[in-house]
Amino acid sequence: MGISAVSVTDDKWRAIVNNDKSYDRKFLYAVKTTGIFCRPSCKSRPPKRENIRIFKTAEQALAEHFRPCKRCKPTGQRLPDHEWIACVTEYVNHNYMGCTPLQYRLLKSKKAQMEVYSMTIQTSKTIYWSLLTYEDWNLYIAATSEGLCYVGSPDQPVAELTAWAGRRYPGSSLVEEAAFLQPYAKELVEYFRGERTRFTIPFDIQGTAFQRAVWDALCDIPYGETQSYSDIAHAIQKPASVRAVGAAIGANPILITVPCHRVIGKNGTLTGYRGGLDMKVKLLQLERG
Ligand SMILES: [Zn+2]
Repeated sequence: MGISAVSVTDDKWRAIVNNDKSYDRKFLYAVKTTGIFCRPSCKSRPPKRENIRIFKTAEQALAEHFRPCKRCKPTGQRLPDHEWIACVTEYVNHNYMGCTPLQYRLLKSKKAQMEVYSMTIQTSKTIYWSLLTYEDWNLYIAATSEGLCYVGSPDQPVAELTAWAGRRYPGSSLVEEAAFLQPYAKELVEYFRGERTRFTIPFDIQGTAFQRAVWDALCDIPYGETQSYSDIAHAIQKPASVRAVGAAIGANPILITVPCHRVIGKNGTLTGYRGGLDMKVKLLQLERG
């Protein structure tokens, strides 16, 4: 423990639990498990007392490699406007792919951006991740406290995961934690061994209503079978939205478990796959036994 950190006294602990603003100028607290530091008044979920470290200044917390909370901004800085707009625009682009041009223009308005920004703050969470290795398969997987949120492409660097998390969950913290991912890794390995045809693990996937409908329809394609993009468009009762269906399938954050590999072109061509066509071929072969 660095000399600048002191343990949490009862009055400081009470200030944290009660989000007591009158303590904001007296100390800051960092959370060892998330690597983030906050003002006492921060409305973020109270951490466990034993994971807290107290600092007098933001500089001291930064020197110990803690990152400032994006919600209470304990360094006193706000995001410069151009960065803020870029962040929101990126969020809109990645999350509202399926909407009409008019809806899209409305989303770009300042008021909508404010709303989207506050949503992104609310979606800040801890994302636990691990590298899953089984025979030829090497892929990053990640989950929140609610369920599996990400299955990466094979043999891609961890940067694919961090870039995705930055877009999808701005302000979230990424924590490597193999034990947390163990139940998810277990079902995936059973699947790779051909011993599992359905997943029972919870998913935590965020998307528009349209995307969710498409992803649900993917989960209804039986193991070992394939459907076309227009089959999916019909399944969600949007027969004219084949292209938007394609975009939603491309945005599936959890490969394999939401089986987007079971969607192929109408004439039987494999078409695209986020994990690469090699992976798609392997998965379809695996399922054909
Ligand atoms: Zn905070």
